[in-house]
Amino acid sequence: MKVSIISIGDELLIGQTINTNASWLGAELSKRGADISRIHTISDQENEIIQTLDCTLKRADIVIITGGLGPTQDDITKNVLTKYFQDELVIHHETLERVRNFFTQRNLPFLDVNIQQAMIPKNCIVLNNLEGTAPGMWFEKDGKIIISLPGVPHEMKTIMLQEVLPRIEKIISPIKYYSKTANLQGIGESYIAEKMKIWEQSIRENNLELAYLPSTGLVRLRISSKKGNEDVERIENFFHELQQALPNNFYGVGDETLAQIVGKLLIKNKCTVGTAESCTAGDLAAEFVSIPNASTYFKGGIISYSNELKQQLLHVNKNNLETYGAVSEQVVTEMAVNGRNILSVDYCIATSGIAGPTGNTTSKPIGTTWIAIASKDKVITKKFVFEQNRQRNIRRTVLSALNMIRLILVGS
Ligand code: ATP
Repeated sequence: MKVSIISIGDELLIGQTINTNASWLGAELSKRGADISRIHTISDQENEIIQTLDCTLKRADIVIITGGLGPTQDDITKNVLTKYFQDELVIHHETLERVRNFFTQRNLPFLDVNIQQAMIPKNCIVLNNLEGTAPGMWFEKDGKIIISLPGVPHEMKTIMLQEVLPRIEKIISPIKYYSKTANLQGIGESYIAEKMKIWEQSIRENNLELAYLPSTGLVRLRISSKKGNEDVERIENFFHELQQALPNNFYGVGDETLAQIVGKLLIKNKCTVGTAESCTAGDLAAEFVSIPNASTYFKGGIISYSNELKQQLLHVNKNNLETYGAVSEQVVTEMAVNGRNILSVDYCIATSGIAGPTGNTTSKPIGTTWIAIASKDKVITKKFVFEQNRQRNIRRTVLSALNMIRLILVGS
Protein backbone atom coordinates (compact mmCIF):
# COMPACT_ATOMS: atom_id res chain seq x y z
CA MET A 1 0.00 0.00 0.00
CA LYS A 2 1.52 3.31 -1.11
CA VAL A 3 1.61 6.13 1.41
CA SER A 4 2.59 9.75 0.81
CA ILE A 5 3.33 12.37 3.43
CA ILE A 6 2.67 16.09 3.01
CA SER A 7 4.29 18.43 5.54
CA ILE A 8 2.75 21.90 5.49
CA GLY A 9 4.52 24.93 6.93
CA ASP A 10 6.62 27.86 5.74
CA GLU A 11 8.90 27.36 8.76
CA LEU A 12 9.90 23.95 7.33
CA LEU A 13 10.85 25.48 3.97
CA ILE A 14 13.04 28.24 5.37
CA GLY A 15 14.90 25.88 7.67
CA GLN A 16 13.51 27.33 10.90
CA THR A 17 12.00 24.00 11.96
CA ILE A 18 13.44 20.62 11.07
CA ASN A 19 10.83 18.34 9.54
CA THR A 20 10.95 15.71 12.26
CA ASN A 21 7.29 14.82 11.67
CA ALA A 22 8.02 13.38 8.24
CA SER A 23 10.94 11.28 9.46
CA TRP A 24 8.95 9.96 12.42
CA LEU A 25 5.97 9.14 10.19
CA GLY A 26 8.25 7.48 7.63
CA ALA A 27 9.82 5.28 10.30
CA GLU A 28 6.52 4.29 11.98
CA LEU A 29 4.71 3.57 8.72
CA SER A 30 7.52 1.61 7.07
CA LYS A 31 7.89 -0.46 10.27
CA ARG A 32 4.28 -1.51 9.67
CA GLY A 33 4.96 -2.45 6.07
CA ALA A 34 3.71 0.67 4.28
CA ASP A 35 5.48 1.66 1.09
CA ILE A 36 6.37 5.35 1.54
CA SER A 37 6.46 6.64 -2.00
CA ARG A 38 6.88 10.38 -1.51
CA ILE A 39 7.35 13.09 1.10
CA HIS A 40 6.37 16.64 0.07
CA THR A 41 7.15 19.74 2.08
CA ILE A 42 5.06 22.73 1.06
CA SER A 43 4.12 26.25 2.17
CA ASP A 44 0.86 27.26 3.87
CA GLN A 45 -0.81 28.30 0.63
CA GLU A 46 -4.08 27.09 -0.78
CA ASN A 47 -2.82 26.49 -4.32
CA GLU A 48 0.21 24.53 -3.06
CA ILE A 49 -1.99 22.31 -0.89
CA ILE A 50 -4.48 21.65 -3.71
CA GLN A 51 -1.84 20.98 -6.38
CA THR A 52 0.10 18.65 -4.08
CA LEU A 53 -3.05 16.75 -3.12
CA ASP A 54 -4.08 16.37 -6.79
CA CYS A 55 -0.66 15.00 -7.69
CA THR A 56 -0.30 12.77 -4.61
CA LEU A 57 -3.74 11.20 -4.85
CA LYS A 58 -2.90 9.92 -8.35
CA ARG A 59 -0.18 7.68 -6.89
CA ALA A 60 -0.79 6.99 -3.21
CA ASP A 61 -3.52 5.02 -1.43
CA ILE A 62 -3.08 6.91 1.82
CA VAL A 63 -1.98 10.54 2.23
CA ILE A 64 -0.95 11.88 5.62
CA ILE A 65 -0.85 15.66 6.02
CA THR A 66 0.64 17.51 9.00
CA GLY A 67 0.46 21.17 9.97
CA GLY A 68 -1.75 24.19 9.65
CA LEU A 69 -4.67 23.11 11.87
CA GLY A 70 -4.28 25.75 14.56
CA PRO A 71 -6.61 28.65 15.38
CA THR A 72 -4.53 31.42 13.78
CA GLN A 73 -5.04 32.98 10.36
CA ASP A 74 -2.01 31.31 8.82
CA ASP A 75 -3.50 27.88 9.62
CA ILE A 76 -5.52 27.17 6.49
CA THR A 77 -5.34 23.39 6.08
CA LYS A 78 -8.83 22.65 7.47
CA ASN A 79 -10.55 25.23 5.28
CA VAL A 80 -8.68 24.11 2.17
CA LEU A 81 -9.55 20.45 2.79
CA THR A 82 -13.21 21.32 3.41
CA LYS A 83 -13.28 23.08 0.05
CA TYR A 84 -11.29 20.31 -1.68
CA PHE A 85 -13.76 17.64 -0.55
CA GLN A 86 -16.75 19.94 -1.21
CA ASP A 87 -17.73 19.58 2.39
CA GLU A 88 -18.97 22.10 4.97
CA LEU A 89 -17.79 22.99 8.46
CA VAL A 90 -20.19 22.12 11.26
CA ILE A 91 -19.80 22.29 15.01
CA HIS A 92 -18.53 19.03 16.53
CA HIS A 93 -19.98 19.08 20.04
CA GLU A 94 -17.66 16.49 21.54
CA THR A 95 -14.63 18.47 20.36
CA LEU A 96 -16.14 21.74 21.58
CA GLU A 97 -16.58 20.22 25.05
CA ARG A 98 -13.03 18.85 25.00
CA VAL A 99 -11.50 22.17 23.89
CA ARG A 100 -13.52 24.04 26.54
CA ASN A 101 -12.27 21.61 29.24
CA PHE A 102 -8.73 21.96 27.93
CA PHE A 103 -8.83 25.70 28.69
CA THR A 104 -10.80 25.46 31.95
CA GLN A 105 -8.43 22.86 33.40
CA ARG A 106 -5.50 25.15 32.66
CA ASN A 107 -7.30 28.18 34.09
CA LEU A 108 -7.15 29.94 30.72
CA PRO A 109 -9.91 32.02 29.11
CA PHE A 110 -11.91 30.27 26.40
CA LEU A 111 -11.91 32.61 23.39
CA ASP A 112 -14.20 32.79 20.38
CA VAL A 113 -11.29 31.78 18.18
CA ASN A 114 -11.14 28.48 20.07
CA ILE A 115 -14.69 27.64 19.01
CA GLN A 116 -13.27 27.51 15.47
CA GLN A 117 -11.28 24.46 16.50
CA ALA A 118 -14.50 22.54 17.03
CA MET A 119 -15.75 23.40 13.53
CA ILE A 120 -15.07 20.21 11.57
CA PRO A 121 -15.93 19.11 8.01
CA LYS A 122 -19.25 17.23 8.18
CA ASN A 123 -18.09 14.11 6.35
CA CYS A 124 -14.80 13.36 8.04
CA ILE A 125 -14.02 11.09 10.97
CA VAL A 126 -12.74 13.14 13.92
CA LEU A 127 -9.46 11.94 15.42
CA ASN A 128 -9.31 13.02 19.07
CA ASN A 129 -6.35 15.11 20.14
CA LEU A 130 -5.70 14.40 23.82
CA GLU A 131 -2.60 16.60 23.92
CA GLY A 132 -3.89 19.79 22.29
CA THR A 133 -6.91 21.53 20.86
CA ALA A 134 -6.96 20.85 17.11
CA PRO A 135 -8.35 17.37 16.34
CA GLY A 136 -7.10 15.31 13.44
CA MET A 137 -9.38 14.45 10.51
CA TRP A 138 -9.79 11.28 8.45
CA PHE A 139 -11.33 11.66 4.97
CA GLU A 140 -12.17 8.95 2.44
CA LYS A 141 -12.65 9.68 -1.24
CA ASP A 142 -12.68 7.42 -4.32
CA GLY A 143 -11.09 4.57 -2.35
CA LYS A 144 -8.30 6.78 -1.02
CA ILE A 145 -7.67 7.86 2.57
CA ILE A 146 -6.53 11.36 3.48
CA ILE A 147 -5.52 12.08 7.07
CA SER A 148 -4.86 15.58 8.38
CA LEU A 149 -2.97 16.02 11.66
CA PRO A 150 -1.66 18.97 13.70
CA GLY A 151 1.93 20.03 13.15
CA VAL A 152 2.99 20.06 16.83
CA PRO A 153 5.11 16.89 16.99
CA HIS A 154 3.84 15.44 20.29
CA GLU A 155 0.20 16.05 19.30
CA MET A 156 0.74 14.47 15.88
CA LYS A 157 2.47 11.42 17.40
CA THR A 158 -0.24 10.84 20.02
CA ILE A 159 -3.03 10.97 17.43
CA MET A 160 -1.06 8.68 15.11
CA LEU A 161 -0.39 6.12 17.84
CA GLN A 162 -3.86 6.19 19.38
CA GLU A 163 -6.17 6.82 16.46
CA VAL A 164 -4.49 6.37 13.08
CA LEU A 165 -2.04 3.48 13.22
CA PRO A 166 -4.52 0.99 14.76
CA ARG A 167 -6.90 1.75 11.85
CA ILE A 168 -4.15 1.62 9.20
CA GLU A 169 -2.78 -1.68 10.53
CA LYS A 170 -6.17 -3.26 9.79
CA ILE A 171 -6.23 -2.22 6.14
CA ILE A 172 -2.61 -2.33 5.10
CA SER A 173 -1.20 -5.35 3.32
CA PRO A 174 2.41 -5.03 4.41
CA ILE A 175 5.27 -5.36 1.98
CA LYS A 176 7.72 -7.92 3.27
CA TYR A 177 10.56 -5.65 4.23
CA TYR A 178 13.31 -6.48 6.68
CA SER A 179 16.39 -4.48 7.52
CA LYS A 180 19.11 -4.45 10.10
CA THR A 181 21.92 -1.98 10.68
CA ALA A 182 25.52 -2.56 11.76
CA ASN A 183 27.39 0.26 13.51
CA LEU A 184 31.07 1.03 13.04
CA GLN A 185 33.35 3.61 14.63
CA GLY A 186 36.71 5.00 13.56
CA ILE A 187 36.64 4.01 9.89
CA GLY A 188 35.43 6.00 6.89
CA GLU A 189 32.92 4.72 4.36
CA SER A 190 35.48 4.66 1.53
CA TYR A 191 37.80 2.44 3.60
CA ILE A 192 34.94 0.09 4.35
CA ALA A 193 33.95 0.01 0.67
CA GLU A 194 37.53 -0.77 -0.35
CA LYS A 195 38.19 -3.41 2.30
CA MET A 196 34.80 -5.09 2.00
CA LYS A 197 34.47 -5.03 -1.80
CA ILE A 198 33.90 -8.77 -2.23
CA TRP A 199 31.60 -8.90 0.78
CA GLU A 200 29.53 -6.06 -0.69
CA GLN A 201 29.35 -7.80 -4.08
CA SER A 202 28.14 -10.94 -2.39
CA ILE A 203 25.37 -9.00 -0.61
CA ARG A 204 24.11 -7.68 -3.91
CA GLU A 205 24.39 -11.10 -5.58
CA ASN A 206 22.07 -12.38 -2.85
CA ASN A 207 19.51 -9.77 -3.93
CA LEU A 208 19.94 -7.83 -0.72
CA GLU A 209 20.50 -4.09 -0.54
CA LEU A 210 23.35 -2.36 1.25
CA ALA A 211 23.23 1.32 2.30
CA TYR A 212 26.05 3.37 3.82
CA LEU A 213 24.80 5.86 6.44
CA PRO A 214 27.78 7.96 7.60
CA SER A 215 27.72 10.58 10.36
CA THR A 216 30.52 12.28 12.33
CA GLY A 217 32.85 9.52 13.59
CA LEU A 218 30.43 6.72 12.77
CA VAL A 219 29.24 4.72 9.78
CA ARG A 220 26.05 2.67 9.86
CA LEU A 221 25.61 -0.08 7.29
CA ARG A 222 22.05 -1.13 6.61
CA ILE A 223 21.33 -4.41 4.87
CA SER A 224 17.75 -4.84 3.73
CA SER A 225 15.65 -7.49 2.10
CA LYS A 226 12.35 -7.31 0.27
CA LYS A 227 11.73 -10.97 1.14
CA GLY A 228 11.26 -10.22 4.82
CA ASN A 229 12.10 -12.80 7.42
CA GLU A 230 13.29 -15.29 4.79
CA ASP A 231 16.60 -13.44 4.69
CA VAL A 232 17.20 -12.86 8.41
CA GLU A 233 19.80 -15.60 8.74
CA ARG A 234 21.65 -14.54 5.62
CA ILE A 235 21.82 -10.94 6.88
CA GLU A 236 23.09 -12.14 10.28
CA ASN A 237 25.85 -14.07 8.49
CA PHE A 238 26.89 -10.98 6.56
CA PHE A 239 27.11 -9.01 9.81
CA HIS A 240 29.16 -11.78 11.36
CA GLU A 241 31.63 -11.58 8.44
CA LEU A 242 31.80 -7.79 8.80
CA GLN A 243 32.55 -8.11 12.51
CA GLN A 244 35.31 -10.66 11.81
CA ALA A 245 36.87 -8.38 9.19
CA LEU A 246 36.66 -5.12 11.17
CA PRO A 247 36.64 -6.10 14.88
CA ASN A 248 38.16 -2.81 16.05
CA ASN A 249 35.45 -0.79 14.36
CA PHE A 250 32.30 -2.95 14.50
CA TYR A 251 30.63 -2.20 17.82
CA GLY A 252 27.07 -3.39 17.46
CA VAL A 253 23.83 -3.64 15.53
CA GLY A 254 20.53 -1.77 15.67
CA ASP A 255 19.87 1.37 17.65
CA GLU A 256 22.17 0.72 20.60
CA THR A 257 24.69 3.55 20.99
CA LEU A 258 28.39 3.16 21.72
CA ALA A 259 27.86 4.74 25.17
CA GLN A 260 25.13 2.17 25.94
CA ILE A 261 27.38 -0.70 24.85
CA VAL A 262 30.30 0.61 26.93
CA GLY A 263 27.96 1.05 29.90
CA LYS A 264 26.82 -2.57 29.66
CA LEU A 265 30.42 -3.80 29.42
CA LEU A 266 31.43 -1.77 32.48
CA ILE A 267 28.53 -3.26 34.44
CA LYS A 268 29.40 -6.77 33.22
CA ASN A 269 33.08 -6.33 34.18
CA LYS A 270 32.07 -4.61 37.47
CA CYS A 271 34.36 -1.66 36.69
CA THR A 272 34.18 2.07 37.27
CA VAL A 273 35.27 4.87 34.96
CA GLY A 274 36.07 8.58 35.20
CA THR A 275 37.31 11.27 32.82
CA ALA A 276 40.12 13.84 32.75
CA GLU A 277 39.12 16.05 29.87
CA SER A 278 40.77 18.90 28.06
CA CYS A 279 39.56 19.31 24.46
CA THR A 280 36.22 17.57 25.08
CA ALA A 281 35.58 19.72 28.19
CA GLY A 282 32.92 17.47 29.68
CA ASP A 283 31.35 16.06 26.51
CA LEU A 284 32.76 12.61 27.24
CA ALA A 285 31.34 12.68 30.78
CA ALA A 286 28.01 13.92 29.39
CA GLU A 287 27.96 11.01 26.93
CA PHE A 288 28.38 8.55 29.81
CA VAL A 289 25.62 10.11 31.89
CA SER A 290 23.19 10.31 28.98
CA ILE A 291 22.56 6.62 29.70
CA PRO A 292 20.15 5.82 32.56
CA ASN A 293 21.80 4.15 35.54
CA ALA A 294 25.25 5.51 34.60
CA SER A 295 26.00 6.07 38.29
CA THR A 296 26.63 2.32 38.56
CA TYR A 297 29.92 2.76 36.71
CA PHE A 298 30.58 6.46 36.00
CA LYS A 299 32.09 8.24 39.02
CA GLY A 300 32.83 11.71 37.65
CA GLY A 301 35.32 13.79 35.74
CA ILE A 302 37.75 16.65 35.86
CA ILE A 303 37.67 19.36 33.22
CA SER A 304 41.17 20.77 32.97
CA TYR A 305 41.14 22.99 29.93
CA SER A 306 43.97 25.33 30.85
CA ASN A 307 47.56 24.31 31.60
CA GLU A 308 47.19 25.81 35.09
CA LEU A 309 44.26 23.54 35.91
CA LYS A 310 46.05 20.54 34.41
CA GLN A 311 48.75 21.20 37.01
CA GLN A 312 46.44 22.13 39.91
CA LEU A 313 43.71 19.52 39.51
CA LEU A 314 45.53 16.66 37.80
CA HIS A 315 49.07 17.33 39.05
CA VAL A 316 50.50 17.32 35.54
CA ASN A 317 54.22 18.09 35.60
CA LYS A 318 54.97 21.68 34.56
CA ASN A 319 58.15 20.62 32.76
CA ASN A 320 56.23 18.11 30.65
CA LEU A 321 53.70 20.77 29.69
CA GLU A 322 56.50 23.13 28.67
CA THR A 323 58.64 20.53 26.92
CA TYR A 324 56.00 18.51 25.06
CA GLY A 325 52.96 20.80 25.05
CA ALA A 326 49.43 20.06 26.37
CA VAL A 327 48.59 17.99 23.30
CA SER A 328 51.16 15.27 23.73
CA GLU A 329 51.44 11.65 24.73
CA GLN A 330 53.35 12.56 27.90
CA VAL A 331 50.73 15.00 29.18
CA VAL A 332 47.67 12.93 28.27
CA THR A 333 49.28 9.92 29.98
CA GLU A 334 49.82 11.91 33.16
CA MET A 335 46.26 13.21 33.03
CA ALA A 336 44.90 9.65 32.79
CA VAL A 337 47.21 8.12 35.43
CA ASN A 338 46.79 10.91 37.97
CA GLY A 339 43.08 11.25 37.19
CA ARG A 340 42.62 7.56 37.94
CA ASN A 341 44.13 7.99 41.42
CA ILE A 342 42.34 11.24 42.17
CA LEU A 343 38.94 9.92 41.05
CA SER A 344 39.50 6.42 42.51
CA VAL A 345 38.26 4.60 39.42
CA ASP A 346 39.30 1.47 37.56
CA TYR A 347 39.70 3.35 34.28
CA CYS A 348 40.38 7.01 33.65
CA ILE A 349 40.06 8.38 30.12
CA ALA A 350 42.00 11.55 29.26
CA THR A 351 41.59 13.70 26.17
CA SER A 352 43.76 16.51 24.84
CA GLY A 353 43.59 17.90 21.33
CA ILE A 354 43.68 20.90 19.03
CA ALA A 355 40.03 21.26 18.08
CA GLY A 356 40.68 24.37 15.96
CA PRO A 357 40.27 26.64 14.14
CA THR A 358 43.41 28.09 15.83
CA GLY A 359 46.14 26.69 18.09
CA ASN A 360 47.92 24.56 15.52
CA THR A 361 51.65 24.38 14.93
CA THR A 362 53.61 22.87 12.04
CA SER A 363 54.12 19.64 13.92
CA LYS A 364 50.59 19.61 15.38
CA PRO A 365 47.93 20.43 12.79
CA ILE A 366 44.31 21.19 13.71
CA GLY A 367 42.60 17.94 14.66
CA THR A 368 45.67 16.47 16.40
CA THR A 369 44.30 14.67 19.43
CA TRP A 370 45.71 12.36 22.07
CA ILE A 371 43.56 9.98 24.10
CA ALA A 372 44.88 7.93 27.01
CA ILE A 373 43.18 5.31 29.13
CA ALA A 374 44.81 4.37 32.40
CA SER A 375 43.99 1.14 34.20
CA LYS A 376 45.59 -0.57 37.19
CA ASP A 377 48.58 -1.97 35.33
CA LYS A 378 48.89 -0.05 32.10
CA VAL A 379 48.13 3.03 30.05
CA ILE A 380 46.97 2.82 26.46
CA THR A 381 47.52 5.93 24.36
CA LYS A 382 46.51 6.75 20.83
CA LYS A 383 47.12 9.72 18.56
CA PHE A 384 44.51 10.82 16.02
CA VAL A 385 44.58 13.53 13.41
CA PHE A 386 40.93 14.35 12.76
CA GLU A 387 39.76 17.27 10.63
CA GLN A 388 39.40 21.07 10.45
CA ASN A 389 36.01 21.45 12.09
CA ARG A 390 35.93 22.15 15.84
CA GLN A 391 32.57 20.50 16.65
CA ARG A 392 33.33 17.41 14.58
CA ASN A 393 36.78 17.08 16.21
CA ILE A 394 35.21 17.14 19.68
CA ARG A 395 32.56 14.59 18.67
CA ARG A 396 35.12 12.29 17.05
CA THR A 397 37.28 12.48 20.19
CA VAL A 398 34.34 11.41 22.36
CA LEU A 399 33.43 8.50 20.08
CA SER A 400 37.04 7.37 19.65
CA ALA A 401 37.53 7.41 23.43
CA LEU A 402 34.41 5.29 23.91
CA ASN A 403 35.57 2.83 21.26
CA MET A 404 39.02 2.60 22.89
CA ILE A 405 37.54 1.68 26.25
CA ARG A 406 35.13 -0.75 24.54
CA LEU A 407 38.10 -2.57 23.03
CA ILE A 408 39.85 -2.74 26.42
CA LEU A 409 36.68 -4.09 28.07
CA VAL A 410 36.16 -6.82 25.44
CA GLY A 411 39.81 -7.75 25.87
CA SER A 412 41.14 -7.01 22.40
P1 ATP B 1 -1.91 23.27 16.58
O1 ATP B 1 -3.24 23.53 16.10
O2 ATP B 1 -1.93 22.19 17.64
O3 ATP B 1 -1.17 24.51 16.98
P2 ATP B 1 -0.92 23.18 13.85
O4 ATP B 1 -1.43 22.13 12.97
O5 ATP B 1 -1.42 24.55 13.68
O6 ATP B 1 -1.06 22.65 15.35
P3 ATP B 1 1.53 24.30 12.98
O7 ATP B 1 1.02 25.68 13.30
O8 ATP B 1 1.67 23.95 11.57
O9 ATP B 1 0.63 23.22 13.70
O10 ATP B 1 2.87 24.06 13.76
C1 ATP B 1 2.89 24.16 15.17
C2 ATP B 1 4.31 23.88 15.68
O11 ATP B 1 4.71 22.57 15.28
C3 ATP B 1 5.34 24.84 15.13
O12 ATP B 1 6.24 25.20 16.18
C4 ATP B 1 6.04 24.07 14.08
O13 ATP B 1 7.38 24.48 13.93
C5 ATP B 1 5.94 22.63 14.57
N1 ATP B 1 5.88 21.78 13.38
C6 ATP B 1 5.00 21.90 12.36
N2 ATP B 1 5.24 20.99 11.41
C7 ATP B 1 6.31 20.27 11.82
C8 ATP B 1 7.08 19.22 11.25
N3 ATP B 1 6.76 18.72 10.06
N4 ATP B 1 8.12 18.74 11.95
C9 ATP B 1 8.44 19.27 13.15
N5 ATP B 1 7.77 20.28 13.73
C10 ATP B 1 6.73 20.79 13.08
